[in-house]
Amino acid sequence: MASKIQEILGSAAAIAKGMGITFKEMLQPTITEDYPDGPALFQERYRGAHQLQRDDNGMEKCVACFLCAAACPAECIYIEAAENTDKLRISGGERYASVYNIDYSRCIFCGYCVEACPTDAITHGHGFEIAAYNTSTLIIRKEQMLVKIPEGATPPAIPVPVAAGH
Ligand code: SF4
Ligand code: SF4
Repeated sequence: MASKIQEILGSAAAIAKGMGITFKEMLQPTITEDYPDGPALFQERYRGAHQLQRDDNGMEKCVACFLCAAACPAECIYIEAAENTDKLRISGGERYASVYNIDYSRCIFCGYCVEACPTDAITHGHGFEIAAYNTSTLIIRKEQMLVKIPEGATPPAIPVPVAAGH
């Protein structure tokens, strides 16, 4: 009988202790994110969707060296290189990436491409809303990754396409 009473008292004490912690936490500030009703906050080191950076003059930093593609364990980076010319200069190097795709159905966000890049052209942003029902939409193109031309920068020499028949 005495052991039964001890058992009941032990259980009651455990419940009281647990409820005490619950009530104490109820009075503390909320530390969980209120997403999607509130902004999602990230640590600076968070590896989100990639960004292709520009230099201070607005030129693309990528010089199409293919080192990121070589370092990628998922083989999800596709690049086509083209030569800069006097009339068409896109990057500060000899070449630029005329095509730069990342297939996010394969990317594991390991960051090896970022580490391999000698010009800091490819970086991780904080974009994370990239889920899709159709994996073919997960191939992200250069135009979607390129950051805006910095304010006040001299825009790179991008020729205006000539309309057919002119
Ligand atoms: S983060 Fe990793 S898997 Fe994704 S593109 Fe870069 S190297 Fe490849
Ligand atoms: S992103 Fe960097 S590593 Fe990749 S091709 Fe461009 S310059 Fe080379």
